[in-house]
Amino acid sequence: RAKDNGKNNYQFYTMMLNKEVSRKMDLQTSLRKALDKNEFVLHYQPQFDLKSGLVYGLEALLRWESPSNGLVSPLEFIPLCEETGLIISIGEWVIDAACRQNKIWKEAGYPFNHIAVNVSAIQLKHPGFYYMLTDTLKKLGMDPQHLVLEVTESVMQDLNTSVVINKLISSGIRVAIDDFGTGYSSLRLLKNVKPSIIKIDPSFTRDIIKNNDSLVILKHILNMGHELNCIIIAEGIEYEQQVSLLNKLGCDIGQGYLFSKPLPGESIKKFFDDKLLTHF
Ligand code: C2E
Ligand code: MG
Ligand code: MG
Ligand code: MG
Repeated sequence: RAKDNGKNNYQFYTMMLNKEVSRKMDLQTSLRKALDKNEFVLHYQPQFDLKSGLVYGLEALLRWESPSNGLVSPLEFIPLCEETGLIISIGEWVIDAACRQNKIWKEAGYPFNHIAVNVSAIQLKHPGFYYMLTDTLKKLGMDPQHLVLEVTESVMQDLNTSVVINKLISSGIRVAIDDFGTGYSSLRLLKNVKPSIIKIDPSFTRDIIKNNDSLVILKHILNMGHELNCIIIAEGIEYEQQVSLLNKLGCDIGQGYLFSKPLPGESIKKFFDDKLLTHF
């Protein structure tokens, strides 16, 4: 009996495993096709100056408009794209689309500093990345200062990727450390690479009102960041109380659902056209 049971468990397990594998393979095939069929879109989340209330930048966030699954979050497909290497061509599409959009909005005179694009370590390790990026900027006549690359702490820790990052910084592109405080050796890496922007992870932003330890950590990040001439962005702002506290502590920029969710390009255009520049 016990043996039968074990066998059943085993069969169940392999069945699940096969299902998982085939689900992944299906997803991989659909993702590959999605690029050709133009099913990827960028949404943009505004980042606001907490003092003036003006828009500082726009973060481009990838979405997959799947005909069968609707709008799919990057959390669901980016890891698989990284695993399969598909992130290289998708990442190229993202950079191109974001920079084109930047050109259109800059030419329309919309008041914002930059568009920020998320890039993963795999992209930075790809030998063509530097040229792809600088070629795109050249082709579009884009000021490199108007592009911010958002990378995580692990990227800056890795010697291979930090070399590329520094080369990009030398060419005028700005770098933001994303999800700051959640990776390893946050402090040491600030010596390897000089970021222009530090983005405080939502896990700190969320807690500052009720958790004194988070507040202490936040104060230290702000002090250190400012002494290193970085702009500090607090991510994941959902409550007014967070805004007033962050403002009081001298945090520069805020981003979160309280101000705006990531929006399709047409909504951002409308947002600027209607001169909805301030959130207060
Ligand atoms: P991230 O770069 O840290 O982006 C912030 C995420 O937090 C976004 O999720 C955004 O929609 C969400 N968010 C913003 N404000 C709030 C808030 O107030 N509350 C809460 N709960 N969430 C908020 P999203 O768009 O699902 O993106 C998830 C992650 O996927 C990103 O994290 C980034 O690491 C990755 N990603 C997105 N687009 C790309 C891309 O084009 N390339 C690469 N390599 N990664 C991307
Ligand atoms: Mg980001
Ligand atoms: Mg983040
Ligand atoms: Mg993240």
